[in-house]
Amino acid sequence: MKAISLTEMTWQEFARGLPHTIIALCVGSLEQHGPHLPLSVDSLIPYNLCLKLGERERLFVAPPFFYGYRSSPFTGGGQSFPGTTSLSGQTLTALLRDVLQDFIRQGCYRFLIMNGHFENTPFISEAAHLVTAVNTKVKVVIVNWWDLLSPATLDRLFPEGFPGWEVEHASLVETSLVMHFRPDLVHAELIPEQKGEKHKPRPLVFPEPAGLVPESGILYTATGASPEKGAAIAGEILTQLQKIVADELA
Ligand code: ZN
Ligand code: MN
Repeated sequence: MKAISLTEMTWQEFARGLPHTIIALCVGSLEQHGPHLPLSVDSLIPYNLCLKLGERERLFVAPPFFYGYRSSPFTGGGQSFPGTTSLSGQTLTALLRDVLQDFIRQGCYRFLIMNGHFENTPFISEAAHLVTAVNTKVKVVIVNWWDLLSPATLDRLFPEGFPGWEVEHASLVETSLVMHFRPDLVHAELIPEQKGEKHKPRPLVFPEPAGLVPESGILYTATGASPEKGAAIAGEILTQLQKIVADELA
């Protein structure tokens, strides 16, 4: 079998692929995802998407970042849940920059950064800016996987209206994707009957007040999630990722 994951290949396998390869780097978080999903959801989803993409495209998948920027209450439940363990923005940017620069030193110039945690976005952009500003050969494409689903798909998944990606935390889409990729990690019997509120802009208050989000940690609802939905969602994202690779990184 062709080696795709950097953690499973030898240095010679890496060296042979080096002149052609794209490096896919996933950035997630260690963050509560309700009573039914593991803390690593935001890393597991992009990592599994990239491993699948690696079966279709020539790319190497770097080990994911299992830590990310701090959880915000209205997009991830906030920092008060046990297990949510986060980096500062400065540290995340510095870590990403170091890893990108060390791949660049070895002759890797094309990067697909797959983000799985809403709050990471500006710090990934900053690292991409820092490495591309000093080396014109380097190209970095950043993708938030949830941006790749079409409005038609969202209408199908949410017949009562899409609540917004902000609250789609540990909810229908993330749960379905983990059911598809890692059913062994889903405690479906623990999914509560719950419907949170749709996203609405609210002020962010520091220090974080208690009781801002549902106690379960699910921000909207995971009811109705299924591995079939997860497979369909993953399929659509992979098709879009192939287009992005062809358009931006070929
Ligand atoms: Zn998540
Ligand atoms: Mn998250």
